[in-house]
Amino acid sequence: MIDFKLVRKEVVELLQEIIRFDTTNPPGNERELAEFFKKKFDEEGIENKILDAPDEKRATFWARIPGEEGGKGLLLLSHLDVVPADKKQWSVDPFSGEIKDGYIYGRGALDIKILGAMHAVVMFLLKRNNIKLKKDLIMLSVADEEEGGEAGAKYVLEKYPELTECPVVLGEGGYGTTGILPDNKLLFSLSTGEKGFVWVKVKTKGQPGHGSMPIKDSAPNRLIEFLHILINHKFQLKFADSMREFFKGFASHQGGAAKLIMNNVQSLGSIGFIRKKLEENPKLGAAIQNTISVTMVNLGYKGNVIPEEAEARLDCRVVPGTTVDDFLSELRKLAEPYDVEIEPLISFNPNESPIDTEIYSVIKNVLSEEGVVMLPFISPGITDTRYFRMRGSLGYGIVPIIVPVEELNRIHGIDERVSVDNMEWGTKVMFEIVKRYLAK
Ligand SMILES: [Zn+2]
Repeated sequence: MIDFKLVRKEVVELLQEIIRFDTTNPPGNERELAEFFKKKFDEEGIENKILDAPDEKRATFWARIPGEEGGKGLLLLSHLDVVPADKKQWSVDPFSGEIKDGYIYGRGALDIKILGAMHAVVMFLLKRNNIKLKKDLIMLSVADEEEGGEAGAKYVLEKYPELTECPVVLGEGGYGTTGILPDNKLLFSLSTGEKGFVWVKVKTKGQPGHGSMPIKDSAPNRLIEFLHILINHKFQLKFADSMREFFKGFASHQGGAAKLIMNNVQSLGSIGFIRKKLEENPKLGAAIQNTISVTMVNLGYKGNVIPEEAEARLDCRVVPGTTVDDFLSELRKLAEPYDVEIEPLISFNPNESPIDTEIYSVIKNVLSEEGVVMLPFISPGITDTRYFRMRGSLGYGIVPIIVPVEELNRIHGIDERVSVDNMEWGTKVMFEIVKRYLAK
C-alpha cells in the first residue's frame, strides 16, 4: 500500500518547481522544462527522451515504463507550455509556485502543469514499487498546446509515430465539480470528445460611394445584414452519444419535471423554453449545437466613405455527429441572399471516443469508489487529444481534481491555483486508474 499522505509533499513540490519555469507561449521555450523532467526521470531510472521541436528552444518530453507483454497500453498526455499571465493583475507572482491558504498558485496550476506533476509522480510510484505492467505506459508532455500544437503534439506524432502512437490516451479536459448535482453529490465530467472548429473569413464587395448618398446594397450593409442573420440563427440541437449519456445520467439524480425533460432531451430539448433553460449554462448550450461567434469586423477606412469591401471573421464550432463540411454548406446557404463569400481559413473536425470501453469503465469505477459520479461530456474547446483521436486512439480528458465550478474560471485567468488537498487526491486517483488498467 502506498501512503498518499507521503506522496502529497512530493507532488506539491514538483508542481511548484515546474510552475517556476516560464513556458509562456508564445514563444514557449519549453526545452528547459523538458530537461528538468529528463533529470528527474534519469534519477528514477525510467527510460526517457527529449523530442525535438522545429525551434531549438522548444521541446517535448517523453518517458516510458515498458510492459511485460509487449505493445503499447496507455499514454498520459500533458503540455509544458502555458498561456501568458499579467503579473500586475495577480496577487502573487504567477511563476513563483507560492503556497497560500492551502493552494498552490501559478500559471499552469490548473492548465496543465498539474497533470505533468501528477503523471510524473504516478510513473515514479509504479517504478519504485516495482509494479509490473502488462503493456507500455508512456508519458508525453508536449510543447505548443496553447498555440495549436504545430510545434508539439502534431509535430511529434508525425515525426515520432513509433514513440507517440498509443491505443489509449488520457489528456486534459475533464474536471470534477461541486454544486452541480443535488445533495452535494460530486460530479466528474469526463471529456470524451471535442467540438470541431472552422475559422471563416466572410468577404463581400459592392458599389463604393459618398456617405451623403446611401447605397442600400453596399458591401457593409449586406455584411451587417448577414451577420445579423447569423447572430440570431438557431442551429438544430444535436446530441452526440456522450451528451445523450450525460443527460441520461444527470436525469437519474433529478426528480419531477427535470427528470422527465432530461430523459427525453432529444425530443423535448428544441421546445423554446426548454432550449432556453439548457442554454443558460453556456458550456452545456455549446455542447449540443453548432455555434458561431463573430470575432472581427472590418468595414471601412473613413467616416464619410462607403467602402467597396467589407470583411468579418467568424469562430465556428461544430458538434460531433456532423462535419466541418456539413457546417460550411449550411453557412453558405445562409449566405446566399447576401452575396457574401465564405472562405474557411483553418479547421479541424469534431471527434468523440466511445463510452463502452474498458478504460472508460476503469475511470468510472475508480471515481465511483471515491464517491464521485462520472458522466461523459463533449468539450466546447480543443486540446491536443484531438490529434490522437484522429489517428484512431481512444482519447479521454481527465484532470482528477474536484473544485467549485467558479474555480475553473481561473484557467487562463487571474490567480490560477489548485489546492494541496486536490494534488494528493488526484495523484491517488490517477495512480489507481493506471494501475487498474495496466498492472499485471
Ligand atoms: Zn491546456
